[in-house]
Amino acid sequence: MDMKAYIDEAESALLHTYNRYQIVFDKGEGVHLYDINGKEYLDFCGGIAVFALGYSNEAYKSALKEQVDKIIHTSNYFYNVPAIEAAKALKKASGMDRVFFTNSGAEAVEGALKAARKYAYLKDGRTDHEIIAMEHSFHGRTFGALSVTGNPKYREAFEPMIGGVKFATMNDLESVKALVNDKTCAIIFETVQGEGGIYPATKEFIEGVRKICDEKDILLILDEIQCGMGRTGTMFAWQNYGVKPDIMTSAKGLTCGVPGGAFLMTEKVAQNSLKAGDHGTTYGGNPLAAIATATVLSEYEKLDILGNVKEVGAYLYEKLDALAAKLGKGVIKDHRGLGLMQGLEFVNPVGPIIEKCMANGLVLINAGANIIRFVPPLVVSKADVDEMIKILEKCV
Ligand SMILES: *Cc1c(COP(=O)(O)O)cnc(C)c1O
Repeated sequence: MDMKAYIDEAESALLHTYNRYQIVFDKGEGVHLYDINGKEYLDFCGGIAVFALGYSNEAYKSALKEQVDKIIHTSNYFYNVPAIEAAKALKKASGMDRVFFTNSGAEAVEGALKAARKYAYLKDGRTDHEIIAMEHSFHGRTFGALSVTGNPKYREAFEPMIGGVKFATMNDLESVKALVNDKTCAIIFETVQGEGGIYPATKEFIEGVRKICDEKDILLILDEIQCGMGRTGTMFAWQNYGVKPDIMTSAKGLTCGVPGGAFLMTEKVAQNSLKAGDHGTTYGGNPLAAIATATVLSEYEKLDILGNVKEVGAYLYEKLDALAAKLGKGVIKDHRGLGLMQGLEFVNPVGPIIEKCMANGLVLINAGANIIRFVPPLVVSKADVDEMIKILEKCV
């Protein structure tokens, strides 16, 4: 079938919840994607910050293939070796103490919120605890995650949300302080806001929130689903700031393509929140997803992924700054980000530019109407950055 026929079939069978680009992808190699006609694309989207290792990591692929032949699923009523190895490696990478594996990012956020409410409940027995989240945040599409997502457009038609959520302004400590009271059980934000437009937390903000949390025994939940797993040059973005969350979430690059996620917590929270029977999942941490995580983490060390992110991330920053200067303030409003998570804010909507890039063999994604987001596989090279800049400049 040709591309158009596939797309027509898709649109007659799939629920139309995405306005998709008119491309049917077939395979990937390195940092390149190929559509079913064999056309090559340089990928600066990475499945939205997912394919950290690129598409040709042999250790990853063979680990999954071997696991398929051994066993894909058991049950969380039993132990399995890949999950044990993945948990151990993730503890080491994060410095957190306990892991719960999920199937997605949204599900990791759900678990984090439940843990925070249970922690507060065990302290004071109340059932009216509040959570402070940030405007322009994104935490996922399930009800709990949606309830803390600071974008009314995503929430409105699905009200009522879970109760007790209040929204503060990211990087405005006073706006958080104004919402804290004796019912507050958690403050949640993305260390670097992703969907909202690539806004890193400032050091003053994250330190200030940490201090409030310490003073009032409120739990700090950092959503590292997009900005974690090495994307900003440290394993988790909060490690750039020298503060530690009480609970954190991970997904996307954590499994690099196999559905998966996790929430992690300190021992103190673990001892005083979710207990046997309080939370569960059928698939979470099954051998296939877990071998993916364990292999991803060992490949990060072997390939020095963090080193590459620091080097190529700085190079990308330089090149995008130069492009912004060349195009001028009439075209580009701002450039920001950390490591290989950067955003270029245009004066006008970027949809047409992204379409043009696709036609010219470059996959990019937006974050909000006016912002192009750069979240390539973490194995990209400086030469890939040069090629991307060349195509982007031509298309602008
Ligand atoms: C993608 C994302 C989520 C949701 O993850 P899913 O796997 O799509 O459920 C949550 N938080 C952040 C910051 C994300 O980028």
